[in-house]
Amino acid sequence: MSDFLDTLTPDAGPDGASDVPRADNATVWRRSDAQGLVTLWLDCPDTGTNVISETVLRELDGILDALGGAKALVIRSAKRSGFAAGADIDGFAGLDRDSALGLIRQGHAVLDRLAALDIPTIAVIHGNTLGGGLELALACDRRIGIDGVKAGFPEIQLGLHPGLGGTFRLTRLIDPVEAMQAMLTGKSIHDRKAKRLGLVDALVPERHVDAAIEAAIKGSLPERDTDFKAGAMRLSPARSLAATRMRQEAAKSVPRRHYPAPYALIDLWHDHGGDADAMQKAEIDSFATLLESATAQALIRVFFLRRALKSGAKGASDIAHVHVIGAGAMGAEIAAWAALRGKRVTLEDVKLDPLGKAVQRASKIYERRHLSGIDARDALDRMMPDPDGLGRARADLVIEAAPERPELKEKIYSSLVDAMKPGAILATNTSSLRLETLFDAAPDPALFAGLHFFNPVSRMPLVELVSHDGVAAETLDRLAALVGELDRLPVRVRDYPGFLVNRVLAPYMLEAMQMLDEGMEKERIDRTALAFGMPMGPVALADQVGLDICLEVARSLGKGLDRPVAEVPDWLVQKVDNGETGRKSGKGLYDYDKESPPETASDDDEEARIVDRLILPMCNAAVECLREGVVSDADQLDAAMIFGTGWAPFRGGPMQYARLRGDVPDALRALEGQHGPRFAPDPGWDGFA
Ligand code: NAD
Repeated sequence: MSDFLDTLTPDAGPDGASDVPRADNATVWRRSDAQGLVTLWLDCPDTGTNVISETVLRELDGILDALGGAKALVIRSAKRSGFAAGADIDGFAGLDRDSALGLIRQGHAVLDRLAALDIPTIAVIHGNTLGGGLELALACDRRIGIDGVKAGFPEIQLGLHPGLGGTFRLTRLIDPVEAMQAMLTGKSIHDRKAKRLGLVDALVPERHVDAAIEAAIKGSLPERDTDFKAGAMRLSPARSLAATRMRQEAAKSVPRRHYPAPYALIDLWHDHGGDADAMQKAEIDSFATLLESATAQALIRVFFLRRALKSGAKGASDIAHVHVIGAGAMGAEIAAWAALRGKRVTLEDVKLDPLGKAVQRASKIYERRHLSGIDARDALDRMMPDPDGLGRARADLVIEAAPERPELKEKIYSSLVDAMKPGAILATNTSSLRLETLFDAAPDPALFAGLHFFNPVSRMPLVELVSHDGVAAETLDRLAALVGELDRLPVRVRDYPGFLVNRVLAPYMLEAMQMLDEGMEKERIDRTALAFGMPMGPVALADQVGLDICLEVARSLGKGLDRPVAEVPDWLVQKVDNGETGRKSGKGLYDYDKESPPETASDDDEEARIVDRLILPMCNAAVECLREGVVSDADQLDAAMIFGTGWAPFRGGPMQYARLRGDVPDALRALEGQHGPRFAPDPGWDGFA
């Protein structure tokens, strides 16, 4: 055994694998043979990330034919980023059921062959081991995880469930309830948990991989426990009970009519969890049915929209040091996040207390992101509280996240003149102030732009990159590259009241205020919005954002737009004057001591009348933004609303919704007749197809 270990050692780790030759007739697999051990390295060309495509499986099939007298087979990845990020989604879009079925059956046949080999088969997995990648690993006898491995099935986010054997292999390998949980939530299982659950048989640092392979081949890895619970769950009554609970849980977050995939997965396990062959057949069928569904096709489109936004953030930025001014709700998160992503960060505030809290918040974020102790410590070391603002002179980028008061921001900008290093950028995180009113105060308007993060930064992927007449194109490109390095999605927008996302979102909340004013029950409004698929009802959202801020937004839109917006009822102004500003004060439209907003949608179909009043003004504002050139196209707009606000993803965003519905201008005209000119269709609908 040690002979081939000697041969393997120089290649150990993804970095060494590029010298290993391609397998015969293969474009994605490299193959090394040593003393009967065949190691296959997955190395998809021209990309940093492997995906499991038809080619990957077809070539693997060919290699399985050519194993000759191999004594053991190891499958691993030559990519530093991980084993494989999932299936090749490009191959999914627009696939009809029959073609899908053909493709999936072929894939199953290859993995079944791998699973049936009579030599030891071992997957060595590291980094992202997701979807089809995990399914490939599950078809091996043993899995060796390298520290930091993240394994999971994110298919549910595409309106699907695993389709390449994942459902029946994972539920038989580990505690089936844990397996179902992982598939239903789409959350990755991190290294130590993967070991505890038995998803990996060994968890080792890279340098011990060869020894672990040797142990796996010799059969000296610990045997897996055959869990009592796993056995019990093969029996139908126990499964029925568990499945009922899972359906109840699923119903709390997504209704079946909008998101069929979780329910299909539960049905699949409920009906066939006791019989692997039957479950495999049913998995194939159910996957093909889901793939055709409007939900999956919409969510696959959202996947492409994300990729398109990401492609606007390519390249390395020249920004290594970020100085953040204001350590409040936003500044603290921006600083923590930038440090997590490897930037040197200094964080300034006029008060010491927010600086201390910011460090605590950063620790929490790192914990939630499963950073190892060392990585968390390194990130915290990179984030330096800087009450004296010493970082201003050294930073490549200063982000101002001070309170939303123009005179305060202007004062900060003038204190930055001659204080920043040449070529450094100043960006503001303002959500409602127009850049045209601020840029004169900036040290250099060409190096000044908006960088509008959403709250909370650690969870909201979108960043609006806001331009104005005086900004240099290069400044925006540098900031876009930085946003990419921060693993966020930039959308380029122009200076406009509310920029893009808040302009489109505001009518949702403002119209809800009108409904409340008419005496409609707040729970009914929120439940209807949830039933439509919005992540939060408008009344609850207004409380969350802060009624004081909503008021500001309404006023600034009223002043800045050349169309009427919903008027703010007097009682709302009164509430804000009384300090009832929403969640942050404990009382707003809901009284948080006594009640909380509904979290589940009404079971009935949404009430069309309420939906139209809440949603169509957003579509109208979206068309206005397109006409005004606030954003370049409808796809970017949809993506921004989905990634900035969670706008019903299965409906594809406001423009896609309007496109599919087809009657929005007419419906707006009808609403205009009933409720007034704020519903008048925007002239931009004329050119809308
Ligand atoms: P915040 O009130 O929570 O924090 C502001 C911080 O700035 C405070 O800690 C304050 O002590 C500090 N500060 C005040 N004057 C300062 C000065 N001269 N120098 C340095 N620090 C100073 O505010 P926030 O919610 O974090 O908002 C900050 C900015 O981000 C605003 O422009 C806001 O519009 C924008 N924004 C907020 C949200 C949100 O949801 N809160 C979302 C997106 C954008």
